[in-house]
Amino acid sequence: MGSRVINPHEELKDIIGHLRNLMVMDREIGLDPPKLSPSSLDYLDTRPAHLSSLEDLRDFVGDCKRCKLCHGRTHLVFGEGSAKARLVFVGEGPGREEDLAGRPFVGEAGRLLSKIIENGMGLKREEVYICNVVKCRPPQNRDPEEDEIEACLPFLKQQLRIISPEVICTLGRIPAQALLSREFRITRQRGQWYSFLDISVMPTYHPAYLLRNPAAKREVWADAQEIMRTMGLEVKRHV
Ligand code: SF4
Repeated sequence: MGSRVINPHEELKDIIGHLRNLMVMDREIGLDPPKLSPSSLDYLDTRPAHLSSLEDLRDFVGDCKRCKLCHGRTHLVFGEGSAKARLVFVGEGPGREEDLAGRPFVGEAGRLLSKIIENGMGLKREEVYICNVVKCRPPQNRDPEEDEIEACLPFLKQQLRIISPEVICTLGRIPAQALLSREFRITRQRGQWYSFLDISVMPTYHPAYLLRNPAAKREVWADAQEIMRTMGLEVKRHV
């Protein structure tokens, strides 16, 4: 296992989130939590850390309006796949086809991801779990902005806690920066092991990048093989 990128900002945010959850629980069982304004208490209620199934989490997310991406979406794209997946793929956010379908990775890049999963790794798409950092489509497919990522990240974290996979494979720069480090450089740092919520993370390129740069498929295949070895899957020589 390679070096872990330590991100004190993320660690502190996690600790603060944990304290908030404890305060919400106090309130629920009738204890008096430290004095907070009504708006702060409302904010605490938006944290999903007490939910233990994907269905409950999806209900909790509901018709979310926690960030401005809600305005342009057709569908909120929560994620799909097995709740017991050993491997979770995390992309950046829904594109046009995903927004229309309400499902992640269904466009051209999604078909390439399915090929990597099924033809390359020998898994079924339904066996893994596929989701994104933000659940609503950014306009014109721009990068999600920091406040949008921050608003949506608790949902992704809770998805990962519930599924508790052996491996997370991040696709492209945005999810690696959201989960590992804001300074993460995908071209220099992909292909090594990191850790998030004590789960092994393998960052690789986004399939959309592979459509523009087919030569990078070699690196993605190397990263996929590394994941397969870690999961004890049979590694084929060729895709
Ligand atoms: S992107 Fe996430 S936080 Fe923003 S509205 Fe959609 S579900 Fe809510």
